[in-house]
Amino acid sequence: MTFRLMPGTGLVLPANAGILRFGMTEHAAQWTASTLADIRAGGWMCGAHWTFFFIHCDILVTAYACTACIDQTMGHLIIERTERVPDRAADVPVDFGDFDLFGYPIHELTEVLDPSERKLLLSADVNPQSTHYLSAVRLDACESDRR
Ligand SMILES: [Zn+2]
Repeated sequence: MTFRLMPGTGLVLPANAGILRFGMTEHAAQWTASTLADIRAGGWMCGAHWTFFFIHCDILVTAYACTACIDQTMGHLIIERTERVPDRAADVPVDFGDFDLFGYPIHELTEVLDPSERKLLLSADVNPQSTHYLSAVRLDACESDRR
């Protein structure tokens, strides 16, 4: 029961629910995610062409296409803790390579992630020395909408 981030590919869902792949249509992405959780669609997000989210245990996943995403297919994923300031590991591991990104305090993660991976996954305002746990990571296939 693990989420797995695959740069360039997307997000492997727990429970053999499939893979949310970059380049999927809104319909295909929703259909895949709906095998794991209830989908909430149609939320408004600045600059997004479409977006939906779902919650599995204490993990909230948002998928969207920005107006620059190719063919308006899925180009962005945000994986968040449902707790605003998590003080412990998430109930469901969110793996990247051999690491559980929500399983260790930030200062330990930043020792094992190389700088390009940090830039890929973490928003710029994350303090690498923090003893808190990460509240969100993101993965983008489309370069135009990092925020
Ligand atoms: Zn985009």
